[in-house]
Amino acid sequence: MKIIFATGNENKMREIREIYGDLDYEILSMKEAGIDTDIVEDGDTFEANALIKARAVADAYEGEAVVLADDSGLEVDALGGEPGVYSARYMGEDTPYSEKNAKIIERLEGVSKEDRTARFVCAIAAVFPDGHTAVKRGTIEGYIGWEPAGENGFGYDPIFYVDEYGCSTAQMTPEQKNAISHRGNALRMMKEEL
Ligand code: IMP
Repeated sequence: MKIIFATGNENKMREIREIYGDLDYEILSMKEAGIDTDIVEDGDTFEANALIKARAVADAYEGEAVVLADDSGLEVDALGGEPGVYSARYMGEDTPYSEKNAKIIERLEGVSKEDRTARFVCAIAAVFPDGHTAVKRGTIEGYIGWEPAGENGFGYDPIFYVDEYGCSTAQMTPEQKNAISHRGNALRMMKEEL
């Protein structure tokens, strides 16, 4: 049986291969499955967007496979949950994350540690060969720091700090981050469905 993960992101492919490596599935990226489709993510929740992606790829694929897709983002409580489902598009898709991160820190000026809570959220959707679907949500809780730190990871990692580790997720190794991350948690929950 095949799993197609609807992503072009090599880091996500590495993570799913690590977590699902012991399952009896062949794991393919969208590209490896020969699928090239432009997907408009216009849902207003992470779950809705993950399902939109998974369904689009399942419709485009002629063979038999379980199609998985993810949608993720950062929720900052003091900003009413922003940037949320707009995380990638916040301040414009092409704006460097150094600027997006600086803006979020600026918007939290004067906000105390206990009110700087935030989380990364990841929804993973699955479309099975018989057409039924499943969606899982994984999260990781943290807070927005006062300055960016760390060179690992991507996106909002340099400003997202985890109390238990006393550092940002950009200061963790990929292995440390995958073991506790929103995407890792959602993938592990979906593993039970498979
Ligand atoms: P997507 O799910 O690949 O569309 O990602 C949505 C956006 O959320 C990314 O572009 C990042 O801005 C942000 N994001 C999601 N997961 C992470 C993470 O683990 N670290 C940092 N930023 C993340």
